[in-house]
Amino acid sequence: MPYTYDDQNIFAKILRGEIPCNKLAETEHCLAFHDIAPQAPQHVLVIPKGAYVNYDHFASTASDAEIVDFTRAVASVCAQLGVCPSEGAAGYRLISNAGPDGMQEVPHLHVHILAGTRIGPLTV
Ligand code: IMP
Repeated sequence: MPYTYDDQNIFAKILRGEIPCNKLAETEHCLAFHDIAPQAPQHVLVIPKGAYVNYDHFASTASDAEIVDFTRAVASVCAQLGVCPSEGAAGYRLISNAGPDGMQEVPHLHVHILAGTRIGPLTV
């Protein structure tokens, strides 16, 4: 089934500047901003600027430059938040929800960075 991107989703509106966000970082291909309803003391979303619905859409159609930039942007934001174990911090969790079973609300690829507390076990 082809990927269908809804350009009226809220992150598309943020990228177009139609809705404000609490920006933390920006690269050529990505934007990072604080989640509006944080589920942890630190909760940041990293999104590509391109029109990708989810991770598999991105991985199968984005350019290598976008994929490298996105991967590094997530790590860079973790470093900016001071949560990297390599720096002696207590760590973080990355989540990217896709589709109904993943309980994805916003149909634009995003990675959640959750940190600042002991995140609970993964459950279903
Ligand atoms: P999902 O369930 O993985 O799609 O998560 C979507 C996330 O976007 C949720 O954690 C929401 O709190 C967050 N969110 C929705 N609207 C906004 C906004 O305008 N700014 C920042 N975060 C938002």
